[in-house]
Amino acid sequence: MHTLQDCQGLDAQDPLRALRDLFTLPDGVIYLDGNSLGAMPAAAPARIAQATTAEWGQQLIRAWNTAGWFDMPQRIGNKIARLVGAGAGELVATDGTSVNLFKVLSAALTIAHETSPERRVVLSERSNFPTDLYIAEALCKERGYTLRLIEPEELVTALDQQVAVLMLTQVNYRTGAMHPMSQVNAIAHAAGALTVWDLAHSAGAVPVALKADGADFAIGCGYKYLNGGPGAPAFVWVHPRHAERFWQPLAGWWGHATPFDFTPDYRPAPGTQRYLCGTQPILSMVGLEVGVDTLLAAEPLGGMAALRSKSLALTDLFIELVEARCGGHGLSVVTPRDHARRGSQVSLSRQDGAYAIVQALIARGVIGDYRKGSGPRHPDILRFGFTPLYVGFEDVWNAVEHLRQVLLSGEWQRPEFNQAHAVT
Ligand SMILES: *Cc1c(COP(=O)(O)O)cnc(C)c1O
Repeated sequence: MHTLQDCQGLDAQDPLRALRDLFTLPDGVIYLDGNSLGAMPAAAPARIAQATTAEWGQQLIRAWNTAGWFDMPQRIGNKIARLVGAGAGELVATDGTSVNLFKVLSAALTIAHETSPERRVVLSERSNFPTDLYIAEALCKERGYTLRLIEPEELVTALDQQVAVLMLTQVNYRTGAMHPMSQVNAIAHAAGALTVWDLAHSAGAVPVALKADGADFAIGCGYKYLNGGPGAPAFVWVHPRHAERFWQPLAGWWGHATPFDFTPDYRPAPGTQRYLCGTQPILSMVGLEVGVDTLLAAEPLGGMAALRSKSLALTDLFIELVEARCGGHGLSVVTPRDHARRGSQVSLSRQDGAYAIVQALIARGVIGDYRKGSGPRHPDILRFGFTPLYVGFEDVWNAVEHLRQVLLSGEWQRPEFNQAHAVT
């Protein structure tokens, strides 16, 4: 078993260690919630200040051209593309994850309908993130489709002749379990369905090869592993084979071929421009670009492959230490042990007290989060995200030591740790 000294040694040998200096983290905090809100890049405040004072403040409306505001969705999109195995000019940063899912699922249904109008089912997982299910439910209702929800092991049998689109989140937000993207695309295509992937917990967390793995559509989140800041814009990717048939359901003027002709009729722009709707949140885009740049700073050090090796080493270590040092306290590891099936988080479950244990850890400066369960198959979860850009091996040791003390002392039972907050 690893000792504290071993963990310190692993940090000393870690080739990615210097990347931690690209972030500002408060003293005394071990941040294990980058899967929910990525940490702040140290360069973000000055860059955002520049965008307000110098660009907005001095250049005013001229900044759309002079400060490169108008091109930001494409420019940032091309950077994100490098992280998820997409080509240049295929991906844009725009809008939010939920809104982008609506656009992409709607376009996918329209494209599927052209060749197979008899297919009337959208297939997804019961444990998918709720917004994904709500968006799909609403869209299905509006367009006369059925949303069919399954457990992951039912995938092969559920992909029948009725399925138009398979919509999955690659890494499950609760359990951290990861779908093998290439295999799932192959199964879906063999069954005649298109695939829509939500990369909220994959982009910047695990190597993704959208194009090589044959995906049809993908969206992802800007404020998790991309470190774009609270509510940062999300992204949209469409395989080039569908790009010209992508019918934007939110046909706003930023998706128009010639927005500044102000014509009364809609004509979609070529390429990724048509995935946009209206004017983009530039100050938030600025934050997103800084966040994406921190990930690209790892490219000379091995990029996503190097980040992935460290992420797996961190999650392996966390699992090992929790089992060795926190045994006998009713915790179970929910996240798959198989590397090929694990994202960049470790989820633990416990019969009771999961919320209060997380609160007690946060009071000690170990920030993870809690996700409420629903029934025996989906228990309450203590969730710990490991972002290899800024989490080290000694952090893992210390986090587990705090967890051990919280359990041993029973301090989690104190009333202040058992009061629910609006955001968990
Ligand atoms: C975080 C997350 C979202 C977030 O959607 P927003 O529109 O940004 O609120 C959506 N889907 C999944 C799978 C997520 O993990």
